[in-house]
Amino acid sequence: MSWLPNDYFRDQRKPNWCPGCGNYATLVALRQALCDLQIDPASVVIVGGIGCGANLPYWMDTYSLIALHGRAIPTAMGVKLANPKLHVIVVAGDGDTYGIGLGHFIHAIRNDVNITLLVGNNGVYGLTKGQASPTAKKGQMTPSTPRGLLYDPLNPLALAITTGCRFVARGYAGDADQLADLMKQAINFDGLAYIDILQPCVKYNKNFGYPYYQDRVVDLQKTAHPVQNRMMALDAALRVEEKIPTGILFLEPK
Ligand code: SF4
Repeated sequence: MSWLPNDYFRDQRKPNWCPGCGNYATLVALRQALCDLQIDPASVVIVGGIGCGANLPYWMDTYSLIALHGRAIPTAMGVKLANPKLHVIVVAGDGDTYGIGLGHFIHAIRNDVNITLLVGNNGVYGLTKGQASPTAKKGQMTPSTPRGLLYDPLNPLALAITTGCRFVARGYAGDADQLADLMKQAINFDGLAYIDILQPCVKYNKNFGYPYYQDRVVDLQKTAHPVQNRMMALDAALRVEEKIPTGILFLEPK
């Protein structure tokens, strides 16, 4: 039997994201990646957290569950431990993963559990109307920081690289083809594979929308970036202003 992209799509109702939300690209790319790999939908479990993007499993015709806020990663680890044959994919947001779930993010990397971790990164808590998330920019004005955020943002890719993650990548919602390709490599990776996805929130974070990223993203795989060099990966992860590297930053096969 061969699978088509729509075989992974539960179409009883349409996604309720805002028009233009970056989550659509993640949904399309994930369906494409699973289809290209010809993975049986019945062998896939998608674990969402709490947030706009974490609702993605509602629209996938695979097994899925929604965990508590910040607990998508340990829930996924439990699923994988119970049945290692399953493809277990976490879909959660930056607030969920890098805020309340940060401890799980770090320790899942240390444990190197064989799961795929997709983090939609838009710098805000979109579901609760746009408060600053751990990746919000310094000075950013949001309902929770009306005079501008006082702190520098967390750099989750640098954190993952220095914590020992062996597959660290960044995707961009404006390039669904690249995103699908990264997802395919992540799903096939033997170990924890992590993709941070630049995913504009067109409703609550308009200063960091598609025009902002479009001028800045640079596909590392179109450069001479050595993906197996951890220090060069860290150097790429720390570049977040003028040019923002996308693609695989670091890859260390077992
Ligand atoms: Fe997407 Fe933001 Fe709308 Fe949520 S509020 S659906 S993150 S654009």
